[in-house]
Amino acid sequence: MILPIIAYGDPILRKVGVEIDKDYPNLSELVENMKETMENAQGVGLAAPQIGKAIRLFIIDTSPFSADDELEDEERDFLANFKRVFINANIVKEEGDEWVFNEGCLSIPDIREDVFRQEKITIAYVDENFKKHTEVIDGLAARVVQHEYDHIEGILFTDLISSLKKRLLKNKLENISKGKVDTDYRMKFPLLKRK
Ligand SMILES: [Zn+2]
Repeated sequence: MILPIIAYGDPILRKVGVEIDKDYPNLSELVENMKETMENAQGVGLAAPQIGKAIRLFIIDTSPFSADDELEDEERDFLANFKRVFINANIVKEEGDEWVFNEGCLSIPDIREDVFRQEKITIAYVDENFKKHTEVIDGLAARVVQHEYDHIEGILFTDLISSLKKRLLKNKLENISKGKVDTDYRMKFPLLKRK
């Protein structure tokens, strides 16, 4: 089932997600619905707060990036298969130089901004079967994980830009909260006034 994506301005996007356990109600159905929702919106990642649940869960599928012919073959192959469910994730280390990438977010349609992040992370998490993993990830895959991880910490990419750029975006962000934006996927807007 495709779920509506929560738009910028909703307080749920600002909550720090809580850990969940195996007994979380209908977890496999929730993960399936999130995958369907992400695919439908042509996203490469989706975090639980974006569908209204303040829990430490996000999913990633970077395969759409594998068509980018500016990337090295090796990275393209990696991105084609980088599909993960991250539960109770914790980034234990971030290292390397900061690099810039033009980020977007399904909760903040029509806005893209350059964001600086470190290039390599070590992340501990459990998958959908609650099997433990510790993974070292770099490049574009790390970038997507860092963006989604921020969601379960209540952080949005628009928090990570200069105060000047934030001021320039203020009206546009407010319009998104009010539903004054067009998307090909269903959204839920916190300030939408129904007539
Ligand atoms: Zn996002």
